[in-house]
Amino acid sequence: MKALVFTGIRRMELQEVPDPVVEQDGDAIIRVTSAAICGSDLHMYEGRTSAQPGMIFGHEVMGVVEKVGNGVQLVKVGDRVSLPFNVSCGACFNCVRGFVNACLTTNPASPGGGYGYADLGPYRGGQAQLLRVPFADFNCLKLPGTPGDRWEEDFIMLSDVLPTGYHATIMADVIPGSSVAVFGAGPVGYMAAMSAFLRGAAEVYVVDRSEVRLRKVAELGAVPINFTEGDPVEAILKLRSENKAIRESLRPGEEKMAGVLCGIDAVGYQAIGRPDPNQERPVQVIEDLARLVDATGSIGLIGVYFKGDPGGVDQNARQGHFTLPLGALWEKGIKIETGQAPVKRYNALLRDAIVQGQLMPGKFVSHKLRLENGPEAYEKFVQRGTGEGAEYTKIVLKPNG
Ligand code: NAD
Ligand code: ZN
Repeated sequence: MKALVFTGIRRMELQEVPDPVVEQDGDAIIRVTSAAICGSDLHMYEGRTSAQPGMIFGHEVMGVVEKVGNGVQLVKVGDRVSLPFNVSCGACFNCVRGFVNACLTTNPASPGGGYGYADLGPYRGGQAQLLRVPFADFNCLKLPGTPGDRWEEDFIMLSDVLPTGYHATIMADVIPGSSVAVFGAGPVGYMAAMSAFLRGAAEVYVVDRSEVRLRKVAELGAVPINFTEGDPVEAILKLRSENKAIRESLRPGEEKMAGVLCGIDAVGYQAIGRPDPNQERPVQVIEDLARLVDATGSIGLIGVYFKGDPGGVDQNARQGHFTLPLGALWEKGIKIETGQAPVKRYNALLRDAIVQGQLMPGKFVSHKLRLENGPEAYEKFVQRGTGEGAEYTKIVLKPNG
């Protein structure tokens, strides 16, 4: 089969590789109809992980079941399925409690398996024509419709960025009426903003510097904030204080609650940081969130922070040490939650929300490309909404044409 292969830092190549085969009774082989490139793939592409040349990336995958092992009962050849990026067994201590992101069976090294990802186990990724899916009965989510139909680009978001953005809103305790600030308008930030509205948020602010990405979040009804135009925290506080309805509904003392109650970091450790003329070093997202989120609020850190970044900007980042403004967080009693999203907790319900027309996450897709265009796609996507990559908000590869 043909696959996109990582051949070194910032190098991808289309290669002919052996087809995957059924290795365990519970396996299925999927013919891939769509495989998206994720911001998480960029960590490996840019050399910030232990990913080795020869790896096939791709953990955002859907397709049609081509073959099943003898032990597979629920999934049939010909089924259209979405795969969660977590590879999980469904039976271990963590899986049975819903923590499929920390499966104890699928990754010999540490809890949590994933397709085509450094340190998440031996699984090949799906930026290829075929993919082996372990524990297929548990991992495959059945999809209605036919390959290539109007839902294809919506459904491909079910493997990762949509449930991940949704999980961020759960971590940030978004409920009806919430005020929410999302840092990062990449695919995860966009899906977090969309999920916040689905959960009934009254106000959603999204911070980034990419005009194209900010325009897309504005189409959702979020307020776009460009951090290159000034301190985003000040900008959001000003917008809230100038809002007549908010101002008029305050009881005495409530003017102290000028910030938002829910904060989301959809940037992660590769953040360029926000340049601040008053400081020597760039401001980190968590520092902005600690200023912006009010007392009693919650923060969801969905952006990735690795325990070691070989290419990190300083010794601390290389050791996986990041600064937390713990004083401010403690004083306000802010709750923080982090970690990999347990996709299977949400993907069936989010699929149904798509089918019912409540969610159209595929709108964030800017490019549908053939597998042979993969190397160029990575070159553009890694610019994260700037320069020649300005228009590349989300790329979906079509390995089988
Ligand atoms: P992306 O790199 O395409 O988007 C990140 C966006 O953040 C960019 O648009 C960039 O301009 C913006 N940004 C950079 N610095 C900023 C700052 N200081 N303030 C505000 N915005 C800033 O990536 P993505 O696909 O949207 O993913 C975002 C993060 O989520 C990545 O770290 C990714 O690895 C992570 N992720 C986590 C999970 C999980 O399970 N926890 C799953 C998928 C992705
Ligand atoms: Zn992903």
